[in-house]
Amino acid sequence: MRVHVVETGRVQIKASQIVGQGHGLRRRLAPFSDTEWSDWLPVNAYLIEHRDGVILVDTGVSAGLKRLPRWHPYFRWCVRFDIEPEEEAGPQLRALGVASADVRRVVLTHLHIDHDGGLGHFPNSEILVSPGELQRASGLAGRLRGFLPERWPKAFDPKPLVLDSGPYGPFARSKRLTADGAIVAVATPGHTPDHLSIIVEDGEKAVFIAGDASYNEATMLAGAIDGVSDDESQATTTLAAIRAFAASRPTIYLPAHDPDAVRRLARAAASREIADPCLATPVGAIATESGLLS
Ligand SMILES: [Zn+2]
Repeated sequence: MRVHVVETGRVQIKASQIVGQGHGLRRRLAPFSDTEWSDWLPVNAYLIEHRDGVILVDTGVSAGLKRLPRWHPYFRWCVRFDIEPEEEAGPQLRALGVASADVRRVVLTHLHIDHDGGLGHFPNSEILVSPGELQRASGLAGRLRGFLPERWPKAFDPKPLVLDSGPYGPFARSKRLTADGAIVAVATPGHTPDHLSIIVEDGEKAVFIAGDASYNEATMLAGAIDGVSDDESQATTTLAAIRAFAASRPTIYLPAHDPDAVRRLARAAASREIADPCLATPVGAIATESGLLS
């Protein structure tokens, strides 16, 4: 089984979105008045080559997102994207030797615009989305919440991903996605109420594809919630569950916007083992963005 990083352009957000400042509504409003922008961060999707077929987790952004709706205060003041058409998920996969038609399934951690932006490249793939997330993101209410359902492909009709396989480790709900059970969707509510993450088991080791459960590994380890989560206690519980999971087995942690994700995966591939994120520090230059896990 192989896992690849698929970097689809870059994003800048406010520092107070990465690490929430204060609590409640004050935390949610802080990014609007914050003048400190983050560095340009990657917008990563992750490709899993599995014998059941290729699975893409998230689809990144599209070049169309360089022009965002100005009527929405978040899009106007709190986020910037930088991406060219050739950096979208479809062309990136072709560079890896994977045609869009070869992607059997696309699993979306949530429906924020930097995760569903590349859906148009995968018209023939089975798309899996949490039903609660789809409901929250749809219609006018979805647009007001900062989703862009009007930009979904016309044929967008995702299959409900219901987490009905019971608890998985410290996660209350899960769903095995492959016949061998090695790829598991787990509930990681917080960033959005129905946010999910994907765990790739590799023997006793694991790759944890985190979406926006946290923006990077350090904030997960610190238990620092972001500036957009609806429910602080839910987000805190999720970050604690991820730490408990990572403590239970060697885990490589791959959020969508962590600049160190590429190095972490490449190093795991180079050493033929998956590093414990608690011990992980980036080392040296990398030659590849692909990770050979077994
Ligand atoms: Zn998000």
